[in-house]
Amino acid sequence: MRVPMIAGNWKMNTTVGEATELVKAMRAGLDQIANVDKVICPPFISLAVVKELIRGSSIRLGAQNLYFEEKGAYTGEISPLMLADLCEFVIIGHSERRQYFNETGEIVNKKLRAALKVGLKPILCIGEKLEENEARRTEEVVTEQLESSLAGIDSLDGLIIAYEPVWAIGTGKAATGRQVSETIGLILYNIAQLYDEEVAQQMRILYGGSVTADNIAEFVQQSEIDGALVGGASLKANEFLSIVRQTSEIKGHLSR
Ligand code: PEP
Repeated sequence: MRVPMIAGNWKMNTTVGEATELVKAMRAGLDQIANVDKVICPPFISLAVVKELIRGSSIRLGAQNLYFEEKGAYTGEISPLMLADLCEFVIIGHSERRQYFNETGEIVNKKLRAALKVGLKPILCIGEKLEENEARRTEEVVTEQLESSLAGIDSLDGLIIAYEPVWAIGTGKAATGRQVSETIGLILYNIAQLYDEEVAQQMRILYGGSVTADNIAEFVQQSEIDGALVGGASLKANEFLSIVRQTSEIKGHLSR
């Protein structure tokens, strides 16, 4: 049985002080909601503080990125070993990293390997751009991203996939539950081909792209969608709480 998950990607937002306030505003409420993995991914510099603030709660911690080397002369980078000490999850291959920091499939693959090696649970982001979607190339793009990201990786234990159509991220223009379900069907087919049916059945797949408290129900009502990776709305305590609460209520009786 796959446990639903809502992960908040705070992106490059919040000072340490603001992160502290945000965690304090959501901690008690989040802690009361059962049957959903509740993950928050603040900026690197707040991880240690947030780790302390959520100690003893059911809230789990993730980072937004990592570098694939364990240590050395890579000024400004953060290694998997440093993160393994601090958090449980790490977002890899977010479209903003692919777009602004030229992360290729090969780099994403190296990062995934590095994360899995130290026991971090990667949230692998994949998804097509607007022009690819309009040219009906979603299937081709998603398949290629999966193949290049997962090349040579034998075990996907702990891996979570977030399907995030790039045109839906931060635009206020979310996909429909039906569109997402269709693409998740394709992702599952690919996972079954690359691994086997059981791996596909156990794989948690989230949707990401302009999720709000007003539209989360449409997504989590689909049995294929295990939850969401939430950007903007994860910075508002009450809205994030509502997203997690609705997911818990709706998923209480659904399975893929
Ligand atoms: C994201 O950052 O992964 C994301 C989906 O952002 P937003 O919810 O703001 O579209």
